[in-house]
Amino acid sequence: MPCYRCGTRQTDPGKGPSPWKRGVVRDEQVLVCPDCQQAHDWVADLDRCGGCGSTMLVRALGETRCRQCAWAKAAGGTAAAGDGSLAADVEEALRRRFER
Ligand SMILES: [Zn+2]
Ligand SMILES: [Zn+2]
Repeated sequence: MPCYRCGTRQTDPGKGPSPWKRGVVRDEQVLVCPDCQQAHDWVADLDRCGGCGSTMLVRALGETRCRQCAWAKAAGGTAAAGDGSLAADVEEALRRRFER
């Protein structure tokens, strides 16, 4: 996954913890490269927990969750809508097949 601001791709981190930071921006899990961490107030771009205001959020299973408290937000129904339309497409294809 590239940096969400400049698009730089993460190089092999080698030893030790990666200098790249993770966050959630507009319901998307993002990575921030070390350059952008210095050049930009990237923390201000991050989504914040609706419970405690923390930016320590993670995306999992179509939800944004807070690592500091139990807060979680479902992702505006986009994932469910995607699944729904796929199922509808399959249903439609099957119906066409049997009608023939
Ligand atoms: Zn960057
Ligand atoms: Zn929280």
